[in-house]
Amino acid sequence: MAPLAHKLPIIRVAEPESSDELASVVRDGFHTNTAIYPLGGQTSLDYGLPARREGLGVSLSRLRRVIDYPARDMTITVEAGISMQALAETLAAEQQRLPVDAPQGEHATIGGVMATNFNGPRRMGQGTFRDYVIGVRAVDGTGMAFKGGGRVVKNVAGYDFPKLLTGSLGTLAVITQVTLKVKPIPEKSSFIAIALGSNDQAEPLLASLIYSKTSPTAIELLGGPEWHALSGELESKSTEYPIVLLVAFEGTSVETDWQLACLAEEWRTLGLRHPTLISDDRASQLWRHLTEFPAQSGSPLVLQATVAPSAVTSWLAAVLAIDPQCSFQCHAGNGVIVVRFSEFPESGLSRTLIGQLQPAANAGHGHVVILSNAQGGEMTHQSVWGGLAPFWLMGEVKRKFDPRGILNPGRFVYQGM
Ligand SMILES: Cc1cc2nc3c(=O)[nH]c(=O)nc-3n(C[C@H](O)[C@H](O)[C@H](O)COP(=O)(O)OP(=O)(O)OC[C@H]3O[C@@H](n4cnc5c(N)ncnc54)[C@H](O)[C@@H]3O)c2cc1C
Repeated sequence: MAPLAHKLPIIRVAEPESSDELASVVRDGFHTNTAIYPLGGQTSLDYGLPARREGLGVSLSRLRRVIDYPARDMTITVEAGISMQALAETLAAEQQRLPVDAPQGEHATIGGVMATNFNGPRRMGQGTFRDYVIGVRAVDGTGMAFKGGGRVVKNVAGYDFPKLLTGSLGTLAVITQVTLKVKPIPEKSSFIAIALGSNDQAEPLLASLIYSKTSPTAIELLGGPEWHALSGELESKSTEYPIVLLVAFEGTSVETDWQLACLAEEWRTLGLRHPTLISDDRASQLWRHLTEFPAQSGSPLVLQATVAPSAVTSWLAAVLAIDPQCSFQCHAGNGVIVVRFSEFPESGLSRTLIGQLQPAANAGHGHVVILSNAQGGEMTHQSVWGGLAPFWLMGEVKRKFDPRGILNPGRFVYQGM
């Protein structure tokens, strides 16, 4: 993977070796009014509005140590520059994991995942990053180091900085250290899958899952060329435009097998006779595919919509009317849809988004954001962040943490900051 630092107007990159050194770099930036761009694995620097102000990159690449790992307490404290893969390997040695599916794990850092707050398929059963972060150390826009939360799970005193910083896109502080709750690696992880002939067939099935006796870890609705091979493997394979509904279960073998059998029976009563069970190595491969799908290269435009779960299929219909060859992945139980366009929309980005897809998402009580745009044009506040208008309190919080607006200036939802 090529680093994306060139996507930002960075004149120089500092690589501090300690959080004290990092704080002093930011303090200098505050005094000289220099823009600061925190850099993790540089996998998502095209997420957000393009930066227009020249500034200094502050790389976390040398802050990647494990500070404390009391495995029996099921918590871990790490520096923010550790890669997701290195973290996963450390935890796996104790049969534990952080069940947040981040693509490009060999590069993506825990600080970057926290700052962007992307969450993958397991969010349905396992929750999101915000549910796992219990402590944080960071440096604000004046260069002052601060901390929030702690290293133990029962910890409720003070402002909840860990949750505030999750999803702040490096605009409130540079995250230097994170404490996380972790979970045991489940004994078994399997999928039950069915191919459907059309989008319309998906809706009643998704609705029926609400009344299921089972508790899925993930409910994924997949479609488009990217999933053709998977659809071809299924007993129910369809010759029409193939859509795959995939439901994942994790837990002990007994729990998982019971849930698979139970859902297969529930589907049989709905007239679906040929679901396919996917386990073992094929299940591991499939998890990797589901995790990497949003960030794979090759799509000119990647969007993410968040709508009410009941509006997933109607928003998809609006997308398919624009690009019938797109590939999509819906975390359908949560109403999160990632679409990889097969070509750049002919009518242009603003018209497609502002004229069609944003109103369709608003009708489903949601919004759309751009995850990546290879052409880079038309990246306005309205097209990138859709209807996400910051309310006044967010601006006030931003001013308190970063009074001169030097942290990732102009990239996030605050107008003019
Ligand atoms: C198209 C696309 C789709 C994606 N979809 C998903 C998905 O579905 N699920 C998922 O989990 N991930 C997704 N990702 C995210 C990605 O793979 C990483 O999980 C994540 O962004 C971490 O990246 P990084 O360390 O490379 O951060 P970088 O790319 O280096 O930085 C990303 C942003 O975070 C800020 N930042 C980085 N480190 C810090 C820090 N220590 N303190 C403060 N701010 C910081 C940066 O300034 C920048 O704005 C997607 C990425 C792309 C490009």
